[in-house]
This record gives sequence, C-alpha cells and structure tokens, in this order.
Amino acid sequence: MKANHLFLIGCLLLIGGILGWRWLHPEPARKSAFERSGVVPPQGRRVVKTDAEWEELLTAPQFYVTREKGTEGRNSSPLTHLHQAGVYECVCCHNPLFASRTKFDSRTGWPSFYVPIAPNAVYTDFDGRRTEVLCSVCDAHLGHVFTDGPEPTGLRYCMNGTALTFKPAR
Ligand SMILES: [Zn+2]
Repeated sequence: MKANHLFLIGCLLLIGGILGWRWLHPEPARKSAFERSGVVPPQGRRVVKTDAEWEELLTAPQFYVTREKGTEGRNSSPLTHLHQAGVYECVCCHNPLFASRTKFDSRTGWPSFYVPIAPNAVYTDFDGRRTEVLCSVCDAHLGHVFTDGPEPTGLRYCMNGTALTFKPAR
C-alpha cells in the first residue's frame, strides 16, 4: 500500500473519530440568565411570549425598555417622585416587584428601591460591568442594582419607571 493511501485512511479515521465523539457527546444547550439564576418565581409562574406578541401588548417605550433592555430618560417617569403607598408591579406581567415603603429618593432621576418585595420577584445577571435586574416571571429588563444604596440592605435598585405599573394600596 502506498504511503499516500495510508495517509488518506488515517485522515478518514481521524474525521470519523471526531464525528463519532461529537455524536456521543453533544454540546449542552447554553443556559439562559434565568436558568443560571436558579430563581423559582412566585407560584412558579412564568410568562413567555415572542417579541411580536409583546409588541402587541406594550407601548413602544415599554417594549424598548423591557424587551430591548433600553433605559428611559432621567426624570422622565412620573413614578420617580411618587411617594404614595402601594405596590409597583411589572408592566408586562403584573408580577409584584417593589413595595412603596422600600422606595427612597436616590436623586438619580429613576425610581429607586433598597429591596424587592420578595427575594424571588426578580433575578439578576452580571454582564461584567453592571448587574441587570429582570422580572422572574417574564424576563422583562427592569434596570440595574448597585451597592451604594441605603440601609438596611445597602442596595440601590435603579429601575425604569416605564417597566413598572403602580397599584395604590386600598
Ligand atoms: Zn414581568
């Protein structure tokens, strides 16, 4: 047998081996930020919709902030300076997110809270620079959390008012 034949057979065996290995060991699907967080949302509720479905339900600014991770302009939300008693819910799925008693004036121009209404109301995703805060039920982008907040947590949940809807206490 000629040397180049042996080389060809060797190459075929190598390719076959690689394909066989890949077939036996498929790459695991990449986990979403929600899956990585390990958070179990309230009552295990999840709302999953396509972008087209969200576009039908939301206004353009709401879609931009919650589904495209946009940021509203400073002091653009009427909720920033609201100090009425009640609960702030996710504008997309009405998951209760923050209680008015944990809201504080951060002077940033965005509604700010020092703790979510329940630990599993939201989950976070660190992008290497900032920690994003998302709704645990529908994955809406809500804003970011920073570590320069007031006591008792020292956290500042800097939210987009556009991503929230206010439900006054009765
Ligand atoms: Zn939501």
